[in-house]
Amino acid sequence: MRIFGIIGYPLSHSFSPGYFKDKFQNEKITDAEYRTFPLAAIQEFPSIIKNIPGICGLNVTIPYKETIIPYLDKLHGVANEIKAVNCIKITRGNKMIGFNTDVHGFENSIQKYLKPHHTKALILGTGGASKAIAYVLKKLNLPFVFVTRTKVSAVQTNLLNYDRISGLLVRDYALIINTTPLGMYGSATDEEYKNSCPPLPYGHFTEKHLLFDLVYNPAETLFLKKGKMMGATVVNGLEMLHLQAEKCWELWNETE
Ligand code: NAP
Repeated sequence: MRIFGIIGYPLSHSFSPGYFKDKFQNEKITDAEYRTFPLAAIQEFPSIIKNIPGICGLNVTIPYKETIIPYLDKLHGVANEIKAVNCIKITRGNKMIGFNTDVHGFENSIQKYLKPHHTKALILGTGGASKAIAYVLKKLNLPFVFVTRTKVSAVQTNLLNYDRISGLLVRDYALIINTTPLGMYGSATDEEYKNSCPPLPYGHFTEKHLLFDLVYNPAETLFLKKGKMMGATVVNGLEMLHLQAEKCWELWNETE
């Protein structure tokens, strides 16, 4: 039996266990099992994971995409560049290799929506997922600015605070990507995030705007709802999620 799983905390509402269980069943994959490994602290990782016979691959979710790195033997390509890991392959020789498949998921999900007038982007949030988004935008030659709650100093030219996002500014930034958890349901922090949205001048959005929300539950967050009301094109994170999961499966099954 090949063992796969996910580390993170909390994992009670995580997408991956259900996705892989359904996949194994639908595709009649009988030699694989998917387990959850909720880790209250990343320091628990070596003792819990290293002793599981047959362990082949892991997903990594909030809050360990960056703190997992010191526990790995190697970072592959993109994961090494952006220093964020959401997928681990465990080799036959028990080496742990970190990958980032969020990049693949986002790139392949957003491309079909991009239009020539999407010339500049705002990335809301500066956490793990925002690094994957920035990597893709750079690759697509799309200039971007991060928007953060942390006080920005005058020398930080690629960072803005929310109170600087005016109606005039959003005219130029037709692509807006939410990488914050605002609006997300189904987590231990439900009450904090649900029915909330990033503070933006929504009344100034137009049909030229493309709003991409990494959040996938609910399918339409308040951020997307408000954009849609102004005629913007809105995309949630579900396809990205499926694409990144399938990429993990491909990596776990590649011959070494
Ligand atoms: P993270 O590392 O915790 O980063 C989230 C960032 O959002 C923080 O760094 C923070 O940036 C901002 N933020 C947090 N709480 C906020 C609040 N109350 N108000 C405003 N901003 C807040 O999380 P992550 O791993 O990047 O994931 C972010 C979201 O993307 C999650 O909802 C996750 O489920 C989703 N995601 C989806 C996919 C997909 O495939 N669809 C993939 C990865 C992640 P500042 O401190 O700079 O403001």
